[in-house]
Amino acid sequence: MVSLICLSVLGPLSAQTTKQPITSGKRYPRFVIRNAMIVDGNGTPASGPKDIVIENNRIAEVAALDPVALRDGRARRPHGDVEIDATGKYVLPGLINAHGHVQYERAGIPQPVDYCLKLWLACGITTVRDVGSDTKQTLPLRDHSAKGEVTAPRLLIYPMFGYPPAPRNADEARARVREIKQMGADGIKILGVDRDIMAALLDEAHKLGLRVAHHAGVEETNAWDDIKFGTTSIEHWYGIPDAAIESGRQNFPSSYNYANEVDRFRYAGRLWREASPERLTKVLEAMVAANVAWDPTLDIYEASRDLQRAQTQPWFAEYLHPTLEEYFKPNPANHGSYFIGWSSTDETFWKENYRIWMAALREFDRLGGTIGAGEDSGFIYQMYGFGLIRTLELHQEAGFHPLKIIQHATGNNAKILGVEDRLGRIRAGYLADLIVVNGNPLENLKVLYPTGVDEIKDGKTVHTGGVEWTIKDGIPYHGPTLMREIKEMVAKARSERAAKAARQ
Ligand SMILES: [Zn+2]
Repeated sequence: MVSLICLSVLGPLSAQTTKQPITSGKRYPRFVIRNAMIVDGNGTPASGPKDIVIENNRIAEVAALDPVALRDGRARRPHGDVEIDATGKYVLPGLINAHGHVQYERAGIPQPVDYCLKLWLACGITTVRDVGSDTKQTLPLRDHSAKGEVTAPRLLIYPMFGYPPAPRNADEARARVREIKQMGADGIKILGVDRDIMAALLDEAHKLGLRVAHHAGVEETNAWDDIKFGTTSIEHWYGIPDAAIESGRQNFPSSYNYANEVDRFRYAGRLWREASPERLTKVLEAMVAANVAWDPTLDIYEASRDLQRAQTQPWFAEYLHPTLEEYFKPNPANHGSYFIGWSSTDETFWKENYRIWMAALREFDRLGGTIGAGEDSGFIYQMYGFGLIRTLELHQEAGFHPLKIIQHATGNNAKILGVEDRLGRIRAGYLADLIVVNGNPLENLKVLYPTGVDEIKDGKTVHTGGVEWTIKDGIPYHGPTLMREIKEMVAKARSERAAKAARQ
């Protein structure tokens, strides 16, 4: 009786009554994140301290705390027995990766899917737009993830439009779109389609309410077609400078062969310089007017401008799965493994290419365009999750304020995915997708890397950083625990591989 009275009196006043540690991987009817500094997904400044109440899979309340009342011990705080202490930490909406690939294999060699799913979570990614995967596996995986039955981010599946077999005319294109809709997919990924097919497929997709992500290659169509037919987002960047070239075609050497990836990536590095700045502005303005978003995946081409950096990323030492490691090795048989005879000249052209590309992104933003963030990892030396954080660093290099960069990866990506009414924000009523970060990502985006950063505190070097908790759909996952599991998975795969090699 006495304790009941005490609770009812003290409960709302004191957060420090009966704290229980939170368990990774378990959804709670109610828990509270205490003392959080919040960076929301809409580009507004950091604000705190705040208590965030999560009930099941929803954000129930975001309570601002009065610092004077807190100091005097009379702050009214939301009650919650289970809590995460976020004192000194930053809380952001869960990161959305607008360009991911769920991979079960590399070059036909099986790779545990947990490897990419857990890396994504450990890097603070709670939603992935999967743009091209084995849908027989990923559609059921998406549903398991939605039910909280598997340790994974929430997935939106965009099957590849073109295979197999590739639609040959407008009728077949429409039939394929209907088939994708019937599968229960969330959207469509297109790559290398001719204009008549593109017109038909986008018309049908609009009728059925399917969003379309376009990896524009160097092909018949370019950004003008995306603008005309209403693509949701242009992935990467091809198709944008192409649309701004005076002659309509890049000045390729006569020996150029698009099917040769060394050629393709080498001359891609000389593409932006051929775009006319005046025409480029017109293309970007038209993209804004037609509501075509841009997901530049800046990280995935970085090896082209600095191969040595790409090949020596520190997390490879303990976290690079041997299957992925093998795939990254230069080999014409593997997509994106084109670094054979890559020269200082190639890197120099690519550095210039990045400068013009980044300036175009800034211009697109100034004009009011929607910029998202995606990683395209699993190719070209990018590890799942780490690639997205590197992309954010490159958005900073492009000149964006960190508040806007976080918006690119949260609020803007939610808009591109059509889920902005429930994801990408820290707001009561929204789904409980949040991350608790050890450190201030507005000062240093590198604190998001799960391998952490070193800082000087009281004259001593301390290791800190990383995403402490990734909360997806109300389920908290402990980042360091995930990383330990990944490290063990990699160590086991490496020793199995070594044992196999010894037997041969
Ligand atoms: Zn991709």
